[in-house]
Amino acid sequence: MKKILFVSSEVQPLIKTGGLADVAGSLPIALAELGQDVRVILPKYQSLKLDSEIEYRCTLRIDNRDVNIFQTYLPNSLVIALLVDSPDYFSKAGNPYTDEYGNAWADNADRFALFCRIAVEVSQNRAYLDWKADVVHCNDWQTGLVPALLTLEPQRPATVFTIHNMAYQGNFPQETFYRLNLPGQLWSMNALEYHGMLSFLKGGLATADHITTVSPTYALEVQTAEYGYGLEGLLQHRHHELNGIINGIDTDEWNPETDVRIAQTFSVENLDQKNINKTTLQQRSNLPENTNIPVIGLISRLVDQKGIDLVIECLEDLVTYPIQFILLGSGDKGFEHRLKNLSYLFPDKIAITIGYNEDLAHLIEAGSDIFLMPSRFEPCGLNQMYSQRYGTLPIVRKTGGLADTVIDAMPETIANKTASGFVFDEAATGAMLETIKRALLLYDNQKIWKQLQKNAMLKDFSWRQSAEQYLNLYNHL
Ligand code: ADP
Repeated sequence: MKKILFVSSEVQPLIKTGGLADVAGSLPIALAELGQDVRVILPKYQSLKLDSEIEYRCTLRIDNRDVNIFQTYLPNSLVIALLVDSPDYFSKAGNPYTDEYGNAWADNADRFALFCRIAVEVSQNRAYLDWKADVVHCNDWQTGLVPALLTLEPQRPATVFTIHNMAYQGNFPQETFYRLNLPGQLWSMNALEYHGMLSFLKGGLATADHITTVSPTYALEVQTAEYGYGLEGLLQHRHHELNGIINGIDTDEWNPETDVRIAQTFSVENLDQKNINKTTLQQRSNLPENTNIPVIGLISRLVDQKGIDLVIECLEDLVTYPIQFILLGSGDKGFEHRLKNLSYLFPDKIAITIGYNEDLAHLIEAGSDIFLMPSRFEPCGLNQMYSQRYGTLPIVRKTGGLADTVIDAMPETIANKTASGFVFDEAATGAMLETIKRALLLYDNQKIWKQLQKNAMLKDFSWRQSAEQYLNLYNHL
């Protein structure tokens, strides 16, 4: 049995801004189910959603500050979540990284440096918890100092650093390095220094014993200039210690057979029931109720990464086909505005909901025929997996986790019953439109379409598979 400390700046359901939280809430539980002793550590933010009691454990004095550690459990599990409490750093309104207006907190370097130092103390059994980690698993830039600081310890646990998104690096001016009182040896090209700046991400990538990304394709992509944000050279250099493990999904939360948020549950055995969700979704979206018209759904943060500009550019062409398009998302105000305008122009074809709405997200997954995900890059992506479980065939761009989880419908994959969606290569409206047309043609052949839906619904996206791969990795370190 391994003692594993999982270090993350967000953990679902306590606090979530993106896919990292889903991983941090699920993987530790899946590892515990494989018999491992796993603890999760995260900051005690003001906005944590705490259902159960939290218990005070200890106080550590770090950097002239008294930091309290509390503990709770991840829901329905015996996995301990340790909460790092330093009120002026973490108890403020807004999200873990930004204030209410979306501006990064000015003291982010200080906040997450403190968090990293506490994680090191806990892992080294210097926090009065009578527990010493064998493996410390770090995630994204907020945790990048942990492997770096641990390299300075004579006896230390093995370290793994997982990249969920290279686009965020935690870069700060050199003065910050001095202000944070970090050990001088770490100001080095082989540790935290990145072109004269302090880079948390680089620290993690340069010093962890092993690096993973959240899909095999993304592990290759981050070694290229297009996706590596200047760190591709380092990652090429470390390619023997770098691999990709695809994320699982919460198969209880996203289960069409038991989902209480949808109008009608269904399964591969009674796929026709899916249509009840389709008409409910059409009603809810003020679109004409018609089960014969293919419905294309999209749920996303409305940002460049997700290829929303491609969607906006091709919508006027798209509505010349017999389709309905239903989008839920929020983000870039310009995208929001242009999408809304298109829905006013084509009110019986396009429905746009701006906001974050989990109930509607489930209904869109259940009620659509096709799910569109044209991301420019996608480290793993979750919605393409959810949609396959709901028999909603994804149309995705061939990148990152999308390339690894969707099998393109081609004559041979249709024949061998592996096809589960549609894939296009180039991030261009032409390529995307062609693929949508290809999907619409197949939709007209309901016999083949139903088979594709079954192929998709029967795929195993559970966490168990991924957890086994991580455990294998820990055992080899
Ligand atoms: P990312 O983490 O880059 O945003 P993922 O596909 O990995 O993308 O995960 C996004 C998660 O957030 C999914 O669970 C998705 O359903 C959810 N989501 C995104 N936007 C919305 C929204 N507007 N309403 C409800 N859920 C959303």
